[in-house]
Amino acid sequence: MSEVTTDVLSREDQIFLEQLRMVYAQTSIAVIGGFVVAVLYSWVFWTVVDHTLLITWLCAMTVLLTCRIVLYFRFQGRKSDDGLSWWSNAYILFSLLVSSLWGLTAVLFIPAGDVVYNMIVVVWMIGLSASAVSAYSAYMKAMLAFFLPVMFPAIIHLFVLGGQFNTAVAVACCIYVVAVLRAMMPISREMTRAISANFRLEDEIRERKIIEEKLREMSQQDGLTGLSNRRHFDEIIEAEWRRALRESGPLSLILMDIDYFKPFNDTYGHVEGDRCLREIGDIIQHVVRRSGDFPARYGGEELAIILPNTDLASAERIAETIRKGVQDLGIDHSGTEIKDCNVVTISAGVATIIPSRDTTPEQFIHTTDKAMYLAKEQGRNQVVTAN
Ligand code: GH3
Ligand code: MG
Ligand code: MG
Repeated sequence: MSEVTTDVLSREDQIFLEQLRMVYAQTSIAVIGGFVVAVLYSWVFWTVVDHTLLITWLCAMTVLLTCRIVLYFRFQGRKSDDGLSWWSNAYILFSLLVSSLWGLTAVLFIPAGDVVYNMIVVVWMIGLSASAVSAYSAYMKAMLAFFLPVMFPAIIHLFVLGGQFNTAVAVACCIYVVAVLRAMMPISREMTRAISANFRLEDEIRERKIIEEKLREMSQQDGLTGLSNRRHFDEIIEAEWRRALRESGPLSLILMDIDYFKPFNDTYGHVEGDRCLREIGDIIQHVVRRSGDFPARYGGEELAIILPNTDLASAERIAETIRKGVQDLGIDHSGTEIKDCNVVTISAGVATIIPSRDTTPEQFIHTTDKAMYLAKEQGRNQVVTAN
């Protein structure tokens, strides 16, 4: 499969490229098979054709087949998908040259009036043209470029030779050509349609994956704050707990609760309460930026941050930065009972643990929760560390 990206191509070009890929993919079999058949063919004609002519023909065939291999590797190694028509024209040109060289043998090789050799050429050309039909069915032009030059010189030569038998064979060959071409048209159209349907299917799968990913994100997200929801929090704390247990590393947790939020709602209404929650969510997201840190909405107006691989001092610093950040937001709160304060504040509990098999994530959450309630008891708007 080529490494070249196809994102910028139009759908038509994508189909065209796929057709080219399919016909270029036939190169190895066409070249190896072609060479073996050419050697056999030369051997068959060795006793009746001038050796210089035969060897020249075989050399010319070898050169052209080598060119096809070079072209194939250049196509595979191309850096961009620009100029697809160049690759198409080059492929068609070499198919045409190879097939013309085959077609030419009908004129050059047959000893005059020899029926047996006439028949050998006809059968050989029918075999070759039939192989082109199956190999190049994805790309009609490539198929025609090989098929017609192989068949027509033999047909014309037979007509020119004349006589009842030669003419009858030539007519039969014409019927063969017409029948193949008639059968090929719908097959080629179907191939193009199949390639196009395949692309549509790939698009659909990609879109579905995006939708699934969005749905997954939505199922893990809190709609109001944009933080992760409780379900996701429960999953992550379990996972981080197991990881910290494996690595014997510290795991920190911060639980935060808005102070006197019920009176806030009662005074300013739920819409303002929601806005307040969102703004606090923004502050948390702004402060917590390290990848792996995990902020979430734990409950109604309770927020949490899981801090993997974080020691207590760092966790306390983060909690204090958020507490101060919320206070500095300066959201009016006339109903707060905190002394000398008339803005929204939070209380936070912080705990750090190196998990062991004797403890559970639930106990760890409970310990952090107790620290948070201590912060409430001690006057709110503060950070308390669990001991
Ligand atoms: P404190 O925590 O300081 O002890 O007092 P409080 O008034 O905040 O106490 P409590 O925990 O009893 O109140 C929580 C309030 O949070 C009650 C509820 O109306 C409000 N709340 C919870 N979820 C939401 C929400 O999504 N939007 C809004 N606007 N309010 C919410
Ligand atoms: Mg509460
Ligand atoms: Mg509260």
